[in-house]
Amino acid sequence: MKKAIFLDKDGTLIPDIPYNVKPELITLSCDSVEGLKQLQASGFRLIIISNQAGVARGLFKEKELEAVKMRIKELFRKEGLELDGFYYCPHHPQGVEPKFTISCDCRKPQPGMILQAALEHSVDLKKSWMLGDILNDVEAGNRAGCKTVLVDNGNETEWIRNPYRFPHYTASSINDAAAHIMSSEAERL
Ligand SMILES: [Mg+2]
Ligand SMILES: [Zn+2]
Repeated sequence: MKKAIFLDKDGTLIPDIPYNVKPELITLSCDSVEGLKQLQASGFRLIIISNQAGVARGLFKEKELEAVKMRIKELFRKEGLELDGFYYCPHHPQGVEPKFTISCDCRKPQPGMILQAALEHSVDLKKSWMLGDILNDVEAGNRAGCKTVLVDNGNETEWIRNPYRFPHYTASSINDAAAHIMSSEAERL
C-alpha cells in the first residue's frame, strides 16, 4: 500500500484565481516546492483533489480542465516533481448545466474523490494526508480517514465547525505542512 498527499488545488497548491482555467495564469504557491520534493522523496504520491463547480455553473467546459492538469504537470516537471493524480468534482447542486447540477458525493466536504483516488492508487488512507486552505478540505480528509492539515493562508473566513472540521495540524504554507508531516513520519518509525 502506498501513501499519498492529497492536495487541494485552488488557494493551496496554486494561488486562487476564481474559476480560472487559463494555463498561463497558473503558478505554484510560494513556499511549496521544497516541501513537495521532500514528501515525494519520502514516498508520498502527490494527488490533486479539487472542487471545480465552474463546470456546473457554466463558467468553463469540463474539457478545459485537461489544459489545467497539463500545466500543473509541466510546472511540477520543471521542479523535478511528479503529479500522480488529478481528481476534480464538476458538480454543484445549484448549477446551470443540467448534467452537472446534482448533489454528489465527490464535492468536498464529501470524501468521494479521496476514496476514489485511494482505490485507484492503492493508497493507505491512514498513512495519508489531505492539505487544504479551507475547512471543507479538512472535513473531506477527516471523513476519508486521512490526517489533515489546514494551510491557513487567510482563505478560510467562515470557520464553521463540526467534529470533522478540526485539522491535525495548522500550517502557514505547504513547506510548513511538509516539515510537520516529515517529523510525524520520523516519530512513527
Ligand atoms: Mg482551496
Ligand atoms: Zn461531484
